[in-house]
Amino acid sequence: MSSPPFSPLSPFAVTLLGGVFGLMVGSFFNVVIYRMPRGESVVWPPSRCMQCGYQIKFYQNIPVVSWLLLKGKCKSCGTPISAQYPIIEALTGLLTALIIGYFSFAEAGYPLDFKIGVTFLVMASIPIFVIDFRHFLIPDLLTYPGMLLGLALSFLPGGQTPLQSLTGAAVSGLFLWLIGYAASLVLKKEAMGLGDVKLVAMAGALFGAPTALFGLIFASALGCLIGLPMMLLRRLDEHRHIPFGPYICMGVLLAAFFSQPVLDWYMGLLSR
Ligand SMILES: [Zn+2]
Repeated sequence: MSSPPFSPLSPFAVTLLGGVFGLMVGSFFNVVIYRMPRGESVVWPPSRCMQCGYQIKFYQNIPVVSWLLLKGKCKSCGTPISAQYPIIEALTGLLTALIIGYFSFAEAGYPLDFKIGVTFLVMASIPIFVIDFRHFLIPDLLTYPGMLLGLALSFLPGGQTPLQSLTGAAVSGLFLWLIGYAASLVLKKEAMGLGDVKLVAMAGALFGAPTALFGLIFASALGCLIGLPMMLLRRLDEHRHIPFGPYICMGVLLAAFFSQPVLDWYMGLLSR
C-alpha cells in the first residue's frame, strides 16, 4: 500500500508530524528536567525567567524557534537562557521523527503496541539520561505512566496480552530488586535505586518479561563497555554511584529489536 508523498497519512507526513510532536514533548521535558529534581510541580507555575521572573508568553515558547528568535536571552532582562533548552527540544524532535519514520517507512509488520511502546521508550530516554546522570534518580513521573501505557497497549489486538504485560512488569521488576537486595547485603550499602527497578518494571509492562530481562543483560554489557572506562577516566570513587537508568533504556531498546534473533540463533546452536 503506497500513498502519494503529501497525503495526510503518507509515511513522509507521519514522520514530519512525529517530529513536531517530539519538539513539543521536548519542551515539556525541559520543564521536567529542571523542576522534577527540585521537587517542583511540572504543571504550575508557567515558565519564568530564572533571573527576573519574567513570565514567558505562550507565543515565546515555540520549541527551538523562540530561543533562536530571542538569541538565547531573556526578552525582559537579557540574561542568557541555557542552550540546553533548544538542544533537548531538537533532540527529542529528531529522535521521535527517526523512530516514527523508521516504523512508517519500514512496514516491517511490528504490532501497534510495540511501535507505540518503542516510541515512548525512545522519547522518555532523553529526560532519564539527563536526570539520572546529574541527580542519580529516575522520575516516577516517567516510569509510572510508562507502566500504565504498557498495560493499556496490551489490550490492543496483536502484540502481548494484559496478563503478559502484568507478569512482565512484576517478574522483571522483582528480578532486579532481588539483585539489588543481594548486592546491598554483600556491599553493606544501598546498591541499586528503586528508580532502576521501576524502569525495568516499565520495560516489562511495555514489552514483556523476556525483552526486559534481555534488556538487563544488554544494559550490563553496555555498562561495562561504556561505564567502566568513564569511571576510570574520572578516577574511581567508591562513593560515586553509577547511573544505571541510561544503560537500561539502551539495553531494553536493543532487546526489543534483537532479543528474538539472538534467542533463535542460540536455540539453533543447541539443536545442532
Ligand atoms: Zn529575565
